[in-house]
Amino acid sequence: MFNIDTIRKDFPILGEKIYNKPLVYFDNGATTQKPRCVVEKIEQGYYTLNANIHRGVHYLSQKATEAHEEARKTVQTFINARSAREIVFTRGTTEAINLIASSFSDECMEEGDEVIISAMEHHSNIVPWQIQAARKNITFKVIPITEKGELCLDSYQKLFSDKTKLVSITHVSNVLGTVNPVKVLIEEAHKRGVPVLLDGAQAVPHIQVDVQALDVDFYVFSGHKIYGPTGIGVLYGKEEWLEKLPPYQGGGEMIASVSFEKTVFNELPFKFEAGTPDYIGSTALAEALNYISRIGINQIAVHENELLSYATARLKEIEGMRIFGEAKEKSCVISFLVGHIHHYDMGMLLDRLGIAVRTGHHCAEPLMHELGIEGTIRASFALYNTKEEIDTLIESIERVRKMF
Ligand code: PMP
Repeated sequence: MFNIDTIRKDFPILGEKIYNKPLVYFDNGATTQKPRCVVEKIEQGYYTLNANIHRGVHYLSQKATEAHEEARKTVQTFINARSAREIVFTRGTTEAINLIASSFSDECMEEGDEVIISAMEHHSNIVPWQIQAARKNITFKVIPITEKGELCLDSYQKLFSDKTKLVSITHVSNVLGTVNPVKVLIEEAHKRGVPVLLDGAQAVPHIQVDVQALDVDFYVFSGHKIYGPTGIGVLYGKEEWLEKLPPYQGGGEMIASVSFEKTVFNELPFKFEAGTPDYIGSTALAEALNYISRIGINQIAVHENELLSYATARLKEIEGMRIFGEAKEKSCVISFLVGHIHHYDMGMLLDRLGIAVRTGHHCAEPLMHELGIEGTIRASFALYNTKEEIDTLIESIERVRKMF
């Protein structure tokens, strides 16, 4: 059952005061707050279950290994992957994209080959490709966006050539909130034999993701944006792809045997997990996913959609309001500017009123250039936010507006 009062009690930080005002936390796109059960899992892990995993014969090591591998299965179930071998733990979305950019271009790309991305990508899905572009002389092509902040699907079709080796796009935009029609994008790419990577950082906390139904080849997300801890994230890859790709980093864990002459790599998914993994982080992430599953991702989506509609309507009542991103399918992220007020000024003054919003380019500078602006104010909601908090935001924006 979705009970907002019970849910809010699960997040102790929501009871904090900021400059003596109740905290209104609208920076969930950057990171979410953590429920008590996740923090307790971390504490309990270090207090009762801490030993390095996979190589130990002793009791604690075996228990810690079991918990880590159980966490992998929780992730598998959460996104409906076929096998736990398809779930690689990374530090987050950024590391997962870097892994694919590096291993995929090493194995599958030659000079002159192309990757398709979109105009609304986070830097994490631009810079890794630029690094590979410089190394291997590959290029990337960019799907443009419409005025409403949706991808131009006609242009997408035209970007394919016989050099296209991968499509790498965001599932949900962290600035515009656009939920991209990923099923169609994947079908179009697959018709041409091109695999697809989806950046799910802003999608998994808000909508049900089923990697098999999407038939996506790679899917990545971060734990900290889905009520889990920082420093842990997920790369899903179809087994046949992960088998084919070379390791990203070398070290312990990712080997079957090593001599000075030759190293035999470990099986999946360990081939991609060099070094001691964050086994406490993985179990805390699994706890976060279980927490979401107990409430129900669809229930969360209903609540967040209500917040989005309410906030959009109320923001539009404000004089001089400009909202960036009005896609038909939209997640609970609203980027806006008010009159000529600089986004930093608005952000700093809202902060003094206890409201946490993000200001700036949101790690999407090319998108800002496209929109012809330097930055925006971004309010992004989560399952624990309320309409009353949105009212506080609206009143506070009005207060700031009147000051200017
Ligand atoms: N992609 C998107 C769409 C994001 O919103 C973010 C985080 N703002 C990232 C990638 C990067 O995530 P992380 O910093 O957790 O690796």
